[in-house]
Amino acid sequence: MVEIEMEADVETFAFQAEINQLLSLIINTFYSNKEIFLRELISNASDALDKIRFESLTDPSKLESQPELCIRIIPDKVNKTLTIFDTGVGMTKAELVNNLGTIARSGTKEFMEALQVGADVSMIGQFGVGFYSAYLVAEKVIVVTKHNDDDQYVWESQAGGSFTVTRDVNGEPLGRGTKVILYLKEDQLDFLDERKLKELVKKHSEFISYPIYLWVKKTVEKEISDDEDDAGEAKNTEEAEEEEGDGGGT
Ligand code: ADP
Repeated sequence: MVEIEMEADVETFAFQAEINQLLSLIINTFYSNKEIFLRELISNASDALDKIRFESLTDPSKLESQPELCIRIIPDKVNKTLTIFDTGVGMTKAELVNNLGTIARSGTKEFMEALQVGADVSMIGQFGVGFYSAYLVAEKVIVVTKHNDDDQYVWESQAGGSFTVTRDVNGEPLGRGTKVILYLKEDQLDFLDERKLKELVKKHSEFISYPIYLWVKKTVEKEISDDEDDAGEAKNTEEAEEEEGDGGGT
């Protein structure tokens, strides 16, 4: 008999105590230089791309799951999300639970130690707290990831002490890589603005050696014929989203 999985199992995990401390600082302390989250996420994406590129030197077949090495940044004003999508190495389920639930990064550890001896949150940008800086601008973060050696998984958290991990049975297959979806806080929707994003991506991608594509909405003028519209006036319609290469030079 064939078993069909109707509903994926959602597993809930508690964040390590230090992560909770860090998250509550990030969320509750006033800090204006929030844009550094983009630098941190682009840098993580670039590291993940480096890893798969390196692995492919000895085993070229590792790129077959997704031959293009790039980063895509996708603002979505309707859903109020900003997505950072890389075709890097991705994470297995074990890596996902371990990497995004404990303090892996030395910068984060140093930052927490500095706080205990009198540093303040404004120094967050200097230390770089990596992935968790997403919570400077997002109330909820969803990470979809696919590693060559495992199934596709979804990590989700609104901070608050825990995160969930679920095997992605219904989602669009990534091939390989990681999609970080930021559900922006109501007062951070500026980060969906194309001009602002373009500027920020340029600023924070100076040393990134992979193409970064910023998705933009193109508005085109379309002539409405007389039978369709008596007034015969031109109307603006939104066309499908198109890609535009931006930054990412070496
Ligand atoms: P750091 O990048 O300094 O190690 P982070 O907290 O930003 O610290 O990330 C922790 C770990 O999570 C990384 O070391 C990496 O293994 C994993 N990770 C984060 N983002 C990605 C990504 N986009 N693709 C693959 N792995 C990632």
